[in-house]
Amino acid sequence: MKRIFSAYAYGPAPRAGCWWDQTVTPQTWPTLQGDIEVDVAIVGGGFTGLSAALHLAQAGAQVALLDSEHIAWGASGRNGGFCCLGGTMLDDATLDRQFGEQERLLLRQTEKTAVQLVDQLLRDHKIDVDRHSAGETELAHRRKDMIALRAKLPAIARNYGVSGRIHDQQDLAEIGMNGPFFGALTVPIGFALNPAKYAQGLAAAAHAAQARIFERSAALSILPEGRRHRIACAHGSVRATDVIIATNGYSSEDLPPALAGRYLPTQSSVLVTRPLSQEELSAQGWHSDQMAFDSRSLLHYFRLMPDRRFLFGMRGGLLSSPASDTRAHAALRRDFRAMFPAWSKVETPHYWSGMVCLARRRLPFVGALPGAKGLWAGLCYHGNGVAMGSFAGQTLAQLVQGQTPAIYPRALRGPLAAFPLGRARRALLPAVYAGLMLRDF
Ligand SMILES: Cc1cc2nc3c(=O)[nH]c(=O)nc-3n(C[C@H](O)[C@H](O)[C@H](O)COP(=O)(O)OP(=O)(O)OC[C@H]3O[C@@H](n4cnc5c(N)ncnc54)[C@H](O)[C@@H]3O)c2cc1C
Repeated sequence: MKRIFSAYAYGPAPRAGCWWDQTVTPQTWPTLQGDIEVDVAIVGGGFTGLSAALHLAQAGAQVALLDSEHIAWGASGRNGGFCCLGGTMLDDATLDRQFGEQERLLLRQTEKTAVQLVDQLLRDHKIDVDRHSAGETELAHRRKDMIALRAKLPAIARNYGVSGRIHDQQDLAEIGMNGPFFGALTVPIGFALNPAKYAQGLAAAAHAAQARIFERSAALSILPEGRRHRIACAHGSVRATDVIIATNGYSSEDLPPALAGRYLPTQSSVLVTRPLSQEELSAQGWHSDQMAFDSRSLLHYFRLMPDRRFLFGMRGGLLSSPASDTRAHAALRRDFRAMFPAWSKVETPHYWSGMVCLARRRLPFVGALPGAKGLWAGLCYHGNGVAMGSFAGQTLAQLVQGQTPAIYPRALRGPLAAFPLGRARRALLPAVYAGLMLRDF
């Protein structure tokens, strides 16, 4: 595999402290042994791959899903659990310029549909995910950001068909969201979940629908063989008419070569406190179970979970190494203390990091890859893939079967444009982050 970060990013160390692993009993799936044939092979066992496997298997297709490590080993088992709107980094004006207003509305509708899909999957398959939060709350970190939050209300109504709610600064303590904020905006779409439980529930549902799941089964090559594709693994192979690539931030330049240079992984990191006592919650004035983020471009995201642990995350380091991870951890801890000073001495025993994925056009890609018939991919959710990845998997399942998805905006159809600098494109990140940081002052 040709990957663009150092080996550390793809090893066990960055996820060693992941809290979610402690909340589930590991499911185990076999390693692929021998040669098998299926209709559709899926590479990657996160939300994208699992959702595709489930929807395809439910429709009667023969499916094999491969993960090089284990189910939800990637970002799907390490995220903040915000099942929320998002997926693109483009604002409405840019979307209107590029695609027209109707397509922009369709994309915004897709974000909402993606959240509804997760809600439906949880109900249909009776997956208990420690759900909480009624929508999502954005907290203004500067006084002037309240003007921007108020100005968003008409667009929220038009894009999502719901009414956002403004909270003035003096009301924040009353709603249990006390902190260095100047007010807030709640959009009543989305909820928080335990991502490991969601992924395990999807895997169990896909298995029950007859999808075959293989762990410790890395795809080493994907080559055409007649009208089919052959995926070689260490101890076997899968021949399939269609192949769905669902590797997002853990993608490789050569799996398949059509992806080379067209996705940009970047790191995000999370810490989780020990359970907070009632006194500690009162001291900070935070008792809301609302999932929240601040109005920075390089934002922090946080939520008080049902077991009273507090989760706090933000972007990770630019490099991937033990030293860089230590620096990212220290920065996260520093920002946590600054934002929640009453908890500055509270232990945060869980820290981990993982890869999200950006696209040059700053839009997710869900569709056929160029170069070979029957190669598909869903990736680049810009750090918002709990809902959008699940949606991408469902959409890919429909496309593979030759169906027309009910909602499939042009903005998602690509092309997946190449970044400058090829395999060295990671060098673009410092400039991108510096630009975003400047906007936050
Ligand atoms: C720290 C962090 C916090 C986040 N917080 C949120 C959040 O709160 N809300 C939100 O919406 N999004 C969040 N995200 C983003 C979200 O988790 C991802 O967008 C989403 O999980 C992507 O799912 P995926 O299935 O496409 O990819 P992944 O879950 O990354 O799965 C890719 C899989 O591919 C496998 N793989 C790679 N190469 C191969 C190969 N050659 N053969 C076989 N398998 C292979 C990997 O082992 C991995 O399991 C966060 C991400 C991180 C890292």
